[in-house]
Amino acid sequence: MAAAAGRRGDDAKLGCTPIRIGVSSCLLGEPVRYDGGHKHDRYLTGTIANMVEFVPVCPEVELGLGTPRPTLRLIDEGAGVRLVCPDETADLTERMRLYAEKKVRALAKLDLSGYVLKSKSPSCGMERVKVYDRNGVPGKGDRGRFAAVLMERLSDLPVEEEGRLNDPVLRENFFERVFGRKRISDFFGSRWKVGDLVTFHTREKFTLFAHDPAAYRSLGRVVAAAKETPRAELEATYRRGHFEAMRRLSTRKKHTDVLQHLAGHLKKVAPDAERRELAREILDYREGLVPRIVPLTILRHLARRYDVTYLLEQHYLSPAPRELMLQNHV
Ligand code: SF4
Repeated sequence: MAAAAGRRGDDAKLGCTPIRIGVSSCLLGEPVRYDGGHKHDRYLTGTIANMVEFVPVCPEVELGLGTPRPTLRLIDEGAGVRLVCPDETADLTERMRLYAEKKVRALAKLDLSGYVLKSKSPSCGMERVKVYDRNGVPGKGDRGRFAAVLMERLSDLPVEEEGRLNDPVLRENFFERVFGRKRISDFFGSRWKVGDLVTFHTREKFTLFAHDPAAYRSLGRVVAAAKETPRAELEATYRRGHFEAMRRLSTRKKHTDVLQHLAGHLKKVAPDAERRELAREILDYREGLVPRIVPLTILRHLARRYDVTYLLEQHYLSPAPRELMLQNHV
């Protein structure tokens, strides 16, 4: 399997293994589209490639269709969605399904932290890919046939489409999940003890709180019962709960609550003037006057200056490499 390795910044070295992200090959500029072209996405090959190792996959080329090739489309004439050539000379539904099952089994062994799919493709599209009826009229959209197997078999893998990554909120959420999954994989890949899981969960507290406070508490009960739970079951339950929590988009209000809570930990150590400045910036963030990076930077600075270990250890303060600038636009 070809893998395009990018440079990885120090921040991204969360463990001994690289952060791997699966990607539709054409987004990396590989000339694999039906017409021999590509859909080069410069955000992926620039900023992101510096921090991760991409695992490029072109299902149609790997299926043996070659380049150039006829375009494919999804049709549904009442017996389920099929992947066909437009003139219906070839029905590739079953071939693609078998290929996808095998490919996804191979991808599962690479411990991917996320996947970026090409939108609108009948093979790779994550959602709303056109499905034509018997009269050639597009109806309700569906997933591309490869994407459908990928997302069903690796149901706790963060997946996004390239176009949606232009939205700052969706982009932050996706990469937070990618780096969160990497932290979890590194943790469960280590020789962990129950006490280590308690520490890990404590460090995840405010990251989870910003998405779903109830999920943090529910995972807390999972951790509390860790000694009586078989390790494999414990890992699966924790991973699933964490994934579901992080899928929920956070809000400005939830982040404000988290920031104010974190600021409370500076009460006994930081001077009033510095805490007042932080409180002002948190309120400005709540009103949408400044992006979250502003109060977050002050919080990090004060935590370092007054050596507040509890704050410094929170993943919330550094959820992903700074170069991604995820909090600069939200
Ligand atoms: S969208 Fe998927 S199948 Fe189509 S060219 Fe890109 S990688 Fe290949």
